[in-house]
Amino acid sequence: MIIVMKNGCTKEQVDHVIAAVEEKGLGTNLSVGHESTVIGVLGDKTRLSVENLERMDGVDRCVPITHSYKLASREMVPEGRRVKVGDVEFGGEKLVMIAGPCAVESEAQIMQAAEGVKKAGAQILRGGAYKPRTSPYAFQGLEDEGYRLLRKAADAYGLLCVSEVVDHADLEVAGQYCDMIQVGARNMQNFRLLRAIGKTGIPVLLKNGIASTVEEWLDAAEYILSEGNPNVVLCERGIRTFETATRNTLDVSAVPVVKENSSLPVIVDPSHAAGKRSLVQPLALAGVAAGADGLIVEVHPDPQNAKSDAAQQLTLAEYEQFTKAVSAVAAAVGRTV
Ligand code: PEP
Ligand code: MN
Repeated sequence: MIIVMKNGCTKEQVDHVIAAVEEKGLGTNLSVGHESTVIGVLGDKTRLSVENLERMDGVDRCVPITHSYKLASREMVPEGRRVKVGDVEFGGEKLVMIAGPCAVESEAQIMQAAEGVKKAGAQILRGGAYKPRTSPYAFQGLEDEGYRLLRKAADAYGLLCVSEVVDHADLEVAGQYCDMIQVGARNMQNFRLLRAIGKTGIPVLLKNGIASTVEEWLDAAEYILSEGNPNVVLCERGIRTFETATRNTLDVSAVPVVKENSSLPVIVDPSHAAGKRSLVQPLALAGVAAGADGLIVEVHPDPQNAKSDAAQQLTLAEYEQFTKAVSAVAAAVGRTV
């Protein structure tokens, strides 16, 4: 259940309502949005009297939430949450553009990538340090050194940076170097990792699992939110289907489904869906047209010789052209790049 406060309610009124709920042994989560103040009630709500709550000063109404996820639900923040990473905001009119190589491979490579994506207008640099590879014999990433080089390159070109954490043992070092932490598709239901990230408060980019439903994805987000970290951005990266023409099937419909059911911003990763350079742009444009709040794209200074995901990474010149195409579609749906 959520308690929607009246417009213009006072802090004292909010505090009173929170105290009344907590007195009954239930948890609360306060969300002060641009247009609404909402108190989420966590726990067994049969212990509460809705009539009594609705009679309290400042309370507008109580709304039951039928989803298993509560804090991530649309009802909790009807106008949609905005997630800030440094001076970049997800969920506003401006799309957030994240770009960079699949993996950080060397200082020269990540520096060149950072320079190129910055020139094309990206705000956040991506680059894997710990790579979750299907084969144990494939390049596994530069590990902690990868985080350090990513930070160095981001700082050199005035970018923010995001990188994946595959194990909660690496969370502390990742938090020292990254502005945002990615939870990859393979770890979407690593609940201990989700809880640990929830405790840090660091902004999170949470990808959908390879074979997960939207509901399971939002439940995963709820793990992070319920630990006190509201800074979650979802990322649709394609799902496994019977289709083999693409690496994964980009679930474009997940974007409006998430928007209807959740308050969290959602971006699209066309690269891991496509698996193939020529398909990255059309899938990205579809994502933006469907309402995505941004894009994360793999870009490499020399894709042919990339140590991972060579077939799907754009060249720096391709990415520059790509952002122009994205701008045109963004403008058509009332967004900017
Ligand atoms: C990645 O973005 O580097 C990655 C491994 O993606 P995913 O988890 O979507 O496969
Ligand atoms: Mn990749």
